[in-house]
Amino acid sequence: MVLYRKSFQGLLLRCVTREVGLIALEEVHGGMCKSHINVRSLTQKIICLGVFWPLIATDANDHGKRCDSCQRQASIPHQPPHEMVMPRSWNACHLRKYYV
Ligand SMILES: [Zn+2]
Repeated sequence: MVLYRKSFQGLLLRCVTREVGLIALEEVHGGMCKSHINVRSLTQKIICLGVFWPLIATDANDHGKRCDSCQRQASIPHQPPHEMVMPRSWNACHLRKYYV
């Protein structure tokens, strides 16, 4: 028995096991297609192929985190990982002598 899920666009998606889905994921991401696209686009591309499994977004996200090429080519956020705090020795009084 084959299960189908109706997508948002009205397409019937074939429900597959997670193992089969991971093979499709690997093929679209780094296999013949070698797209190395982001998680959202990768998920949509797999859905457009007519394949679905419940953890498709989670698996696509995990796959992207493990992909060496994606990690090397990803944009680097140019902000500190925490909120910047002005040191006590650098306040407005100390800066005033440079700008007056
Ligand atoms: Zn990749």
